[in-house]
Amino acid sequence: MLSPPNLSIVVPCYNEAEVLPETIRQLERLLEQLAGQQRISSESRIFLVDDGSGDATWSLIAGAVEAGRPVVGVKLSRNRGHQIALIAGLEAADGDVVVSIDADLQDDLAAVGLMLAKFVDGADIVYGVRRKREADSLFKRSSARAFYRLMRMLGTETVPDHADFRLMSRRAVDALSEFREVNLYLRGMIPMLGFPSETVLYDRRERLAGVTKYPLRRMLALAIDAITSFSVLPLRLISGLGLLVSLTTTVLGIWTLLNALIHPAPVPGWASTVLPIYFLGGIQLVGIGIIGEYVGKLYLEAKNRPRYFIERIDRQKRNTFEPRMKSQQR
Ligand code: UDP
Ligand code: MG
Repeated sequence: MLSPPNLSIVVPCYNEAEVLPETIRQLERLLEQLAGQQRISSESRIFLVDDGSGDATWSLIAGAVEAGRPVVGVKLSRNRGHQIALIAGLEAADGDVVVSIDADLQDDLAAVGLMLAKFVDGADIVYGVRRKREADSLFKRSSARAFYRLMRMLGTETVPDHADFRLMSRRAVDALSEFREVNLYLRGMIPMLGFPSETVLYDRRERLAGVTKYPLRRMLALAIDAITSFSVLPLRLISGLGLLVSLTTTVLGIWTLLNALIHPAPVPGWASTVLPIYFLGGIQLVGIGIIGEYVGKLYLEAKNRPRYFIERIDRQKRNTFEPRMKSQQR
């Protein structure tokens, strides 16, 4: 019989000290269960990426490694944001199969077993998709819905109601790390990999503890990144708008000329002169802004700076959690 795959669970953590002990406990239990059922190897590990936290997150991670829990600690040199922390973890993970999940355990761990089953049946990528979003605020729900609709309109393939809870095979992870861009929007990049893909439905819960690390400002930045990294449609829209305004103006000009020839009129009013100036000025500024967004992105990508630096990796040389499992079975 083929030996069961080595599973790496990747968890980006930013100021998650409140929730982390429970997260580690639950993930460890999951590994024990799956290893007990011979579905994963006992070399499987939880990769906790500390994204430059300012609280006790790293000492909790280092302590867990020290205590011989099945944890590998990856400490980034500073805060780089969720998407980069996640790719750092994916690149550090050494499993045959990798599952990424948030530290707050909003995602249902039971879905990991279902994902593994689909992997065994041949899927390279298994997306965790939320059945309902009741745990999210009304604002988060409706803004997310508008965002997915916009992304679809812009022609980007994204899996609706899928955040970054997913399984990837080794070859999918390797393919992903060939994308060298600095502005990451993983949810848009992963469907571009191709490979056989599947979805698993699950219920999303409230955060176990702590507060969201995605305030409105970060959500907007992620949305802008998502749009400008995957679509040049906004640039085309500017040209379209320019064309529309010019055509309308031409037609209006002809109409005005004919009108003036037929009924000679007094000097035209202020509004018809000044308002179009402001209107067009506004459109031009928006247009320049959108172009600037792309130029800025080019600038950042052209510099090709490293995405992150790892300050240290903590892992025990040879610790399998089998003895622990046995002692718990007693
Ligand atoms: N996170 C991170 N770096 C950041 C912000 C967030 O690694 O700069 C992690 C965070 O610790 C969590 C995940 O990204 O594991 C998702 O964040 P959160 O749960 O706050 O987002 P929400 O679920 O509210 O969208
Ligand atoms: Mg969360």
